[in-house]
Amino acid sequence: MSAHEATLGRARDLTHAKLWIDGASVDALDGATYDDVDPAGGEVFAQIARGGGADVDRAVTAARRAFDMGPWPRATAAQRAKVLRKLAELLVEHREDLAQLESRDAGKPFRETADRDVPRAAENCAFFAGAIEQREQSAFFDRKPFLGREREIVSIVREEPVGVCALLTPWNSPLMQATWKIAPAIAAGNTCVLKPSELTPLSTLRLAELCSEAGVPDGVVNVVTGFGPAAGAPLVADPRVDAVAFTGSEPTGIAINTAAAATLKKVTLELGGKSANVVCDDADLELAVEGSVLAMFRHSGQVCLAGTRLYVQGGIYDRFLERYLERVRALRVGDPQSRESDLGPLITPQHRERVERFCAQAEDEGVEVLLRGTRPGDPALARGNYLGPTIFAPRDESQTIAHEEVFGPVLSVFRFDALDEVVARANATRFGLSSYIWTANVATGLRFAQRVRAGMCWINGYFLRDLRQPFGGVGMSGLGREGGRWSLDFFTEPKLVCISYGSE
Ligand code: NAD
Repeated sequence: MSAHEATLGRARDLTHAKLWIDGASVDALDGATYDDVDPAGGEVFAQIARGGGADVDRAVTAARRAFDMGPWPRATAAQRAKVLRKLAELLVEHREDLAQLESRDAGKPFRETADRDVPRAAENCAFFAGAIEQREQSAFFDRKPFLGREREIVSIVREEPVGVCALLTPWNSPLMQATWKIAPAIAAGNTCVLKPSELTPLSTLRLAELCSEAGVPDGVVNVVTGFGPAAGAPLVADPRVDAVAFTGSEPTGIAINTAAAATLKKVTLELGGKSANVVCDDADLELAVEGSVLAMFRHSGQVCLAGTRLYVQGGIYDRFLERYLERVRALRVGDPQSRESDLGPLITPQHRERVERFCAQAEDEGVEVLLRGTRPGDPALARGNYLGPTIFAPRDESQTIAHEEVFGPVLSVFRFDALDEVVARANATRFGLSSYIWTANVATGLRFAQRVRAGMCWINGYFLRDLRQPFGGVGMSGLGREGGRWSLDFFTEPKLVCISYGSE
């Protein structure tokens, strides 16, 4: 038995993973399952329940009952916070198992799942425990004429949970994403049905069990595994669902927003990006090189925030590029379970082919190739979806590779001269998720930050995250924000209660 099989065994029989509905692990009503395939070895390592409309119906019914009749929405913020803190502790306790599971299911380097994703999942829970306890409520005292008399009034804004929330997540950081939505949703007193990506459901199912262990009542957190059209679409369409929080691709986001509009659900969309990463002449060279490599090649570029368009100023261009290429050539492509690997496999063979097609198209369009990533020759990696880093130098943003989200280890690099020019070029995209600038001059960094059309801008850093701050994008990168009070705004409805209490 491999270490990983032992992990799966301890976690319970996740080799036959079921839906999680009303606090119990259940098969799909029609008994259907599908294969979960290891991106690194190509073998089927788990059977997953294939949820459909009838299973969504069961899960929404459970969530609705838990919301309308159960104790959770009526619990105090302190009571809910206590459960979330316990969940955070359990995630820390199970860090190793969860990180292995995630690494196997998503092909994500263990170093990232163990050192970043699982700790961050725990932080998400602990953070929203504190955030709900500290959330300020408002009351306004006033005096108004009413039926001919001056009345004293107090208006109270009572924050209530929205109701049943549909949470839909992608495959690139499944556990982190699941907690990023579940924690604020349940902190605010909602119940939820989570639909994880069909490609990476295991850590979310394990999370649902840990929610129960932490004291989350049955029906508050439900998980329906399965495919987007069969399991995700009926969930979004269900009129008993009050809000939809979605993270995923641009086309799915558009479909979800359209479907949710039919019943006027609240919606947040966290979608894709084509983020600009700007390196100025006066940048700290080593910091900018290391930061830019990380911003682009973490999880093989399968990250929404990836700085996939690199703009380097003329005075530093040659020196920067030489050092950057040296660093990228040294990245190790290999088994995600090994701490030595920088790049694991891509999620599926089809996704790797899609990335390769983008590269082939760029070559057909005559884009200059600075580094061409290939499938590794090592026989030990032959069955995984591995692909080395590719770097193109497109003429401008009109070339396909320079404006489409590839979601793989493929960078476009450009040379620029002046700040005005690079602002215009950074904004030459329909996306607007993130942006980065490396400069010794704070004024330059701030001027760029003010003018770039993006939801986020990091100056001399990459994804330095404060959970109190908003996360999200503009344009086709999404709608709304997550994080801090923005998540709690989304997962609550303000109700006005006005008391007229007397006349002086
Ligand atoms: P995807 O859109 O294919 O799938 C996301 C989720 O939606 C999955 O659970 C899927 O099953 C479900 N789904 C698919 N079709 C559906 C439908 N018609 N109705 C309801 N649900 C449906 O995205 P993906 O390939 O899993 O993830 C990659 C994408 O996610 C990239 O574009 C990436 O940029 C984006 N992403 C964005 C952020 C962010 O915070 N902005 C974070 C991570 C990933």
